[in-house]
Amino acid sequence: MSEVDVIILGVGTCGEDLGLRLLGEGLKVVGVEPYLVGGECAFWACLPSKLMIRAGNLLAEGRRINGKAGTAEVNADWSLLASRVRGEVTWDWEPKWGIQRFESRGGRLVQGYGRLDGPKTVVVNDERITARLGVVVATGSKFIVPPIPGLDEVDYWGTHDVIGAETLPASIVVLGGGVVGCELGQLMARFGAQVTIVEAADRLLSGEEPEASEQIKAAFEAEGMTVMTGSAVVKVARRVAEQDGQVVVTLADGSEVSGEKLLVAVGKRPNVDNIGLETVGIDSSAGAVPVDEWLRAGDGLWAMGDVTGKTLLTHVAEYQSAIVAADILGQDWQPARYDAVPRVTFTDPEVGSVGMSEAEARAAGLDVVAVVKNLPSSFRGWLHGSGNGLIKFVADKESGRLVGATAVGPGGGEIMGFLSLAIHAKIPVSELQSMIYAFPTFYGVIGEAIGAWGRGLETVIDPDYKGFELLDEVGK
Ligand SMILES: Cc1cc2nc3c(=O)[nH]c(=O)nc-3n(C[C@H](O)[C@H](O)[C@H](O)COP(=O)(O)OP(=O)(O)OC[C@H]3O[C@@H](n4cnc5c(N)ncnc54)[C@H](O)[C@@H]3O)c2cc1C
Repeated sequence: MSEVDVIILGVGTCGEDLGLRLLGEGLKVVGVEPYLVGGECAFWACLPSKLMIRAGNLLAEGRRINGKAGTAEVNADWSLLASRVRGEVTWDWEPKWGIQRFESRGGRLVQGYGRLDGPKTVVVNDERITARLGVVVATGSKFIVPPIPGLDEVDYWGTHDVIGAETLPASIVVLGGGVVGCELGQLMARFGAQVTIVEAADRLLSGEEPEASEQIKAAFEAEGMTVMTGSAVVKVARRVAEQDGQVVVTLADGSEVSGEKLLVAVGKRPNVDNIGLETVGIDSSAGAVPVDEWLRAGDGLWAMGDVTGKTLLTHVAEYQSAIVAADILGQDWQPARYDAVPRVTFTDPEVGSVGMSEAEARAAGLDVVAVVKNLPSSFRGWLHGSGNGLIKFVADKESGRLVGATAVGPGGGEIMGFLSLAIHAKIPVSELQSMIYAFPTFYGVIGEAIGAWGRGLETVIDPDYKGFELLDEVGK
């Protein structure tokens, strides 16, 4: 039995961040981690996938040269990408580097699956560790495996298999048209795989605005991908090798799609399995660790990251880590709020969004104005010649502020930085209308759309647009 200041159960994305913060302040910290210090984001999710998507975008840009700037022949090479993933971001998924990083700052890293064993106590391997201040649960999330007959027998791929793939299949069916299915589906298509996305909901990216879903579907189809929405899967099976060895996916209407591989990307759920929550009076059947605005889950107990089920994103996990650190250290900080959470789907076009969708705002009883400005009919969009993209605002008439926004197009996620600040800082739309926007920029389309500048020109470039007039009514 040993005593320390804080135990972190799961030294993944936010667990490592918290550990290094607390160690930097001189606390005695034990991290319990069975696998890779740094977690999912660094090794299997955000970082490798965005390196890969950048490569896919390079291919797509290269293919756009013809007819616009000269001629180019583009040849994709997945094996080059695979070796970059190994060498440049994941260090061959070798755990020792993360452990060294943690221990070089004075922490102790215990390798193994831990579980709570009453207040402020964790058991790992055969050791029982007690913490003076408490335990922070950061055990992340688990991939959801849908209960589809036959799935267990087809040797399907999960997202780790795409990230770690040395070779790309000639064809692949992607089950799930959410963020990850769309990102990885487009990536593989750009490297030459024949991709079919099958989504049960009636549109791709069903968590985003319908206008964004339409744009992504159109972009995918223009790149030769097949998109099947409103298509529930009823069974899967693999044909024998002598036939063609393909995985056959049968849909509710009896039709079939097939591919050399099947990728299951239908989402994740908080990992509350076997972590001893019941020993501290928490009912894990709720599916996530319930936390308050300081991420407290009990006396001397905090939880953060995916396991809280708030929004399963790295920046939310790291935001929570900062709050937990401040709470533990007694520092002045702001409690958690989730009304301005930015989200980015790193497809091309990129989808950035923040806050509520129009439907969510209306469902919450808000009286909102919703406005859509198409990028091709903005100055920068027209010059860029992308042929797609939009900005959508959802503004609350009563408060006079934005409650949600979406940007589809080049740098959609970057544009969201501006709009996230507007929502987070509760900046009135009238204030956004009275500032200066750089011309001709993508973020400047915000100013163009809300009537901050160029109203006269607007009638030339986009005569049907009435958004600024609607937004003028907000907060009046
Ligand atoms: C393909 C993909 C791409 C993504 N891209 C993005 C992106 O671009 N941007 C973004 O914001 N988010 C992205 N995400 C989401 C992001 O990866 C997660 O939200 C984030 O990693 C969660 O961090 P975490 O610390 O909560 O969990 P994790 O990083 O998963 O860490 C949890 C840790 O707990 C450990 N653990 C589990 N059980 C135990 C136990 N009993 N005892 C001790 N340790 C345990 C695990 O080994 C793990 O290391 C992506 C996800 C996927 C799948």
